[in-house]
Amino acid sequence: MRPRPEPGEFEEFQASALFCPRCQRAQPVRERLLLVLPDGELREYRCEACGTSVGQRRVTAERPSLVPGILG
Ligand SMILES: [Zn+2]
Repeated sequence: MRPRPEPGEFEEFQASALFCPRCQRAQPVRERLLLVLPDGELREYRCEACGTSVGQRRVTAERPSLVPGILG
């Protein structure tokens, strides 16, 4: 039983609207990758209407993968 569709395909879904100080109203925003961190990513939300940055979000990796060294 699957109560809802798997989210895989919708990973790039549009974030909900955020308040844009330039437009003086909530606007749909576009998410973009701002910076890749060692333990995740920093994403930025920009107003779709005027392009102003209206917020940032840090997305941490689910869990750091333990890479075992080559120990012979
Ligand atoms: Zn705006």
